[in-house]
Amino acid sequence: MQVIKPGDNQGTLYIVATPIGNLEDLSPRAVKVLSDVAVIAAEDTRHSGRLLQHLGISKPLIALHDHNERGRVKSIVSQLMAGADVALISDAGTPLISDPGYVLVRDVRAEGLRVSPIPGPCALVAALSAAGLPTDRFLFVGFLPAKRTGRRTALEELRKEVATLVFYESPHRILATVADIADVMGAQREVVLGREITKTFETFYSGGAADVHAALTEDPHGSRGEFVIVVRGAEKTESGLMAGAVDVDQLLNLLMAELPLKKAAKMASELTGLGKNELYQRALGLKES
Ligand code: SAM
Repeated sequence: MQVIKPGDNQGTLYIVATPIGNLEDLSPRAVKVLSDVAVIAAEDTRHSGRLLQHLGISKPLIALHDHNERGRVKSIVSQLMAGADVALISDAGTPLISDPGYVLVRDVRAEGLRVSPIPGPCALVAALSAAGLPTDRFLFVGFLPAKRTGRRTALEELRKEVATLVFYESPHRILATVADIADVMGAQREVVLGREITKTFETFYSGGAADVHAALTEDPHGSRGEFVIVVRGAEKTESGLMAGAVDVDQLLNLLMAELPLKKAAKMASELTGLGKNELYQRALGLKES
């Protein structure tokens, strides 16, 4: 059990979100924190150096990327213990979201030190907020495997997922990935593709997966820039063990012949992926007729 509150002599690790393309999205609080900390850990010090220079902030920078994160943690923990505040930033958006920082945050928390988020831009949230697809339940997948076989296997595993799916993709693979989504999840599966979000050429393509693929192919700028792919989740009925393969009323009648109505509805729900209450009402109706 651990409770970490403000108010001791130790430093705080601030996780600071930076813009995903539009510098005006940097919050005043982010600027203040970056100006006040003793040290800034950055994924790419040259890249972040330019942002800090633009802000007129001059601070010692430590490089923290996937290949050296474990090694860097010790020295950052020592600085925090000595009372210095440290900020973590990535090249764009929110650190740790398909970016380095997980090991650092985990270990700093394990030491009982404070970690405080300075929230802001994040491509996944930006895309999802504008996609017009359900947001009550979503699954952020990040980058799919780069190779076709692995990518298709991953998509196959997600085919029946009912939550809205969110992927990041690079310009080199965007066409191949959208083609695979159409192939594996269905040409009509609804896709909203956000390109260059918050930037001058921000574009959203939406429609069935095959249509989005065609639109991207036709657009001369279609495979340039940065992309977030948002995909509508599977219909609920596709998620059960026998999804789409049975006549639901026939299944209910068979189960009701052997089981009490409530149990029959519960089992039918597990088999079909349909709601338990919906099936209970349906079973009641069948019994009465
Ligand atoms: N940490 C970042 C965030 O908070 O979104 C994501 C970093 S990840 C290494 C970079 C990927 O995020 C890109 O390849 C792209 O898929 C997505 N991305 C970042 N900025 C974007 C933008 N302006 N428009 C669309 N996608 C973007």
